[in-house]
Amino acid sequence: MSPQKNSRKASRTKYVFITGGVVSSLGKGIASASIGRLLKARGLKVSMMKLDPYINVDPGTMNPFQHGEVYVTEDGAETDLDLGHYERFIDEDMSRANNATTGQVYYTVISKERKGDYLGATVQVIPHITGEIIERMLAVTRGSKQYDVVLVEVGGTVGDIESLPYIEAIRQFGLELGPKNCVYIHLTLVPFIATAQEVKTKPTQHSVKELREIGVQPDLLLCRTDRPLDRKVKDKIALFCNVGREDVFDVPDVDTVYELPLIFEREGMGKRLLDQLGLRAKDPDFSQWQSVVRKIKHPTGTVRILIAGKYVEVRDSYKSIIESFVHAGAFHGVKVELKWVEAEEFEHGEAKDLMAGCSGLLVPGGFGERGIEGKISAIQYARTKGLPFFGICLGMQAAVIEYARNVCGLRKAHSTEFAPTTKHPVIDLLPEQRGLKQKGATMRLGSYPCFLTRGSKAHAAFNTDAITERHRHRFEVNNQYREQLEQHGLRCTGVWPGGDLVEIVELQDHPWFLAVQFHPELKSRPTHPHPLFRDFVGACLNMTEPKAKEHASAKKFETVIEE
Ligand code: GLN
Repeated sequence: MSPQKNSRKASRTKYVFITGGVVSSLGKGIASASIGRLLKARGLKVSMMKLDPYINVDPGTMNPFQHGEVYVTEDGAETDLDLGHYERFIDEDMSRANNATTGQVYYTVISKERKGDYLGATVQVIPHITGEIIERMLAVTRGSKQYDVVLVEVGGTVGDIESLPYIEAIRQFGLELGPKNCVYIHLTLVPFIATAQEVKTKPTQHSVKELREIGVQPDLLLCRTDRPLDRKVKDKIALFCNVGREDVFDVPDVDTVYELPLIFEREGMGKRLLDQLGLRAKDPDFSQWQSVVRKIKHPTGTVRILIAGKYVEVRDSYKSIIESFVHAGAFHGVKVELKWVEAEEFEHGEAKDLMAGCSGLLVPGGFGERGIEGKISAIQYARTKGLPFFGICLGMQAAVIEYARNVCGLRKAHSTEFAPTTKHPVIDLLPEQRGLKQKGATMRLGSYPCFLTRGSKAHAAFNTDAITERHRHRFEVNNQYREQLEQHGLRCTGVWPGGDLVEIVELQDHPWFLAVQFHPELKSRPTHPHPLFRDFVGACLNMTEPKAKEHASAKKFETVIEE
């Protein structure tokens, strides 16, 4: 047991630990978030946490091809994309405390060692590293933040060398918490073997065996399967894995991930979890959630939107954008089909052909030069053809460059990110960014207020004078060009009062042309779609028939929105 135990105050919060087995990519984040929803629907105060076994301090320095989206929290932490699922499913803001990585844990322990906090001791994985992991699990629910239940998802798969200290930490912490105060859930795979025409339980047995070797006995088993498991199979799993018959649950493939909490509830998981945690709560209320799921599953129409991005092969890089379109689509009762195009294609092909059949263009955030000219061409097309356009972060910077070049006549306009010596740096580094040597966690990160101009599309969307939105960027609209841009019609309708920075630009005489420096996709939730995604989809739907036809062609859309 951890040596810190005696100095720790006993936690009144109950903990649910979620591990994964057999293979990765089983959807552990979604399953965990769905369990969070079961508890939230019962009026319990719930928070969630992700433990990431990699040695990076945070995913901020990782390539989107490696890691997918970096999810930024209100307090400016760059975190794992699972925190996005947590926020969307439990409708609670996450913070820096809700994601811990091996890099952070070691950083803290080594810093303490240098300060002399462990004087005399040999610093070891057990108890010092595991002790720090436990401290971080406790830190989620301290001070003003008191929760009934904290769900802790352990990243990786049981058996990975990297995740061992985390499994050991949840074992120790479980002992401290005591029975009825925590539950261990293991997500596993039950594959169907076509040649035998049977589902196989052996991988699950092995995975649980591996967990038990470390001293963790799962209480609930969640079995990913492409077909319902019959009673006999579940009984066999229960027997071999030492869990109750009623504690083996199917996790089926679903049309929309938002359906999963409803399926879990129908299977009785919520009630079972409450029993195991010794908790009482009111009856669950899923009415709003159910209505969103119904709308997602039964759309009354379709709208097609093109995304001109840089990491389009890895859809996880745009996870929150994809989900924001699901939410906005549900609001309008339509399915948003996304056509994914590498922005570079706009450098070689005709914008008209690429945009054929699409009612709107979204240019998302990104880093680095590749594809920037393609984004600018795509935006020029949308601007001049009256096609709804939504720019996010780099998408807004590209819109400003396009406008400066093609409307203000500043042919050499560019961002100093791509052309450091450009004659017209309409997008430039913030002064405080100039001297920075360190890359990690040094961007403009997290939530900042933004004042909106009355009478603008932005103001109409939010229906308020001041908002807060989350950021992740180093470059900004250069205020030296602001007047010129405005004089030519690009309105700056959202401004950060603290530093007089442009946060939103838009065009008045256009069906919908609006771009933002922040990341609205991080704040969209199924039951409250983000106002800008909502209005952008609305504008795309409003494309008049002839206009839509102008872009229509028989081209097939290779990809449909993923849920
Ligand atoms: N590369 C740009 C910047 O750092 C945009 C970043 C983004 O799109 N998130 O400002």
